[in-house]
Amino acid sequence: MSQRRKFIKKSLLGSAVFLPGVASAFNVPATGKQAIGEKPIILSTWNHGLPANADAWAKLEDTGSILDAVEAGVKNTELDLTNLSVGLQGLPDREGIATLDASIMTGDGSCGSVAFVRQIKHPISLARAVMEKTPHVMIVGEGARQFAIAQGFPLEEEKLSPNAQKAYDKWKVNSQYKPIINIENHDTIGMIGLDANGKLAGSCTTSGLAYKMHGRVGDSPIIGAGLYVDDEVGAATATGLGESIIRICGSFLIVELMRQGRTPQEACEEAVRRLISKNKDIKDIQAGFLAINKEGETGAYAVHPGFNFAKATNSGNVLIDSGSHFKKQ
Ligand code: ASP
Repeated sequence: MSQRRKFIKKSLLGSAVFLPGVASAFNVPATGKQAIGEKPIILSTWNHGLPANADAWAKLEDTGSILDAVEAGVKNTELDLTNLSVGLQGLPDREGIATLDASIMTGDGSCGSVAFVRQIKHPISLARAVMEKTPHVMIVGEGARQFAIAQGFPLEEEKLSPNAQKAYDKWKVNSQYKPIINIENHDTIGMIGLDANGKLAGSCTTSGLAYKMHGRVGDSPIIGAGLYVDDEVGAATATGLGESIIRICGSFLIVELMRQGRTPQEACEEAVRRLISKNKDIKDIQAGFLAINKEGETGAYAVHPGFNFAKATNSGNVLIDSGSHFKKQ
């Protein structure tokens, strides 16, 4: 086992370095200079990003492919039975059905996504198959399921996980739709990575909002909303209320702001400001963004406190609290 892999493994086996408040180090003034970032680097949303980053890092070492890495990383979360917002164990829609969305992209413009798909354990791999094996970018619903069957993906039994069933039964008592603003209800994994040669890739996968309307699709499978990657500039991904992120083409906006010279941190902060200006009832909306530029500098920002992310480099795999527009009361 290589030194680097040992390091990541070690960081997950109890010595993960938690750095609350590190986000303030990202608050670079508009004219300020940020240190040149590290390469390779992998960022992913929320604390499940730690094991996901570790798997991504291991894959990067095995195959040398940043695309393989971002696929393998989020597959970890798709199988995580404790996660109720990613994978088939996620909370269902209001009809009691788990429907999944996912997207994948590389910095040369290749991308693929699936949305409103049922019975598929690894929607991220199906999104990759759309990218690599079809002339299309996005396949949804029954078409995506049929494509999966044709590609040899096994169909899982359509049955909620015990935790999801319990939560759904409880929800049905009042059947009220009210998103809760942080990880309790938004914990999509979005992952972006840069390899040592400057190649970028990203992935994003979710079961979407709990108790959404049947057929609802969020930002995660929409290229430019939940994920955007461009080798000339950088990459961005999002988590949070999908509708608010789609309204501003959040990830594309961040990449374009970086193209115009903003640092990743400045770009994430501007995207949050834009999101706030285009969405009503902002006190009930959480959204968070992550960004990397091609030098390996990073940014993270959210509407409200509570968003965190995992960052893996040669120095380790750490969980970092993001800054936010609204501050803790
Ligand atoms: N962005 C996801 C969606 O709207 C939700 C989440 O981040 O959990 O589907």
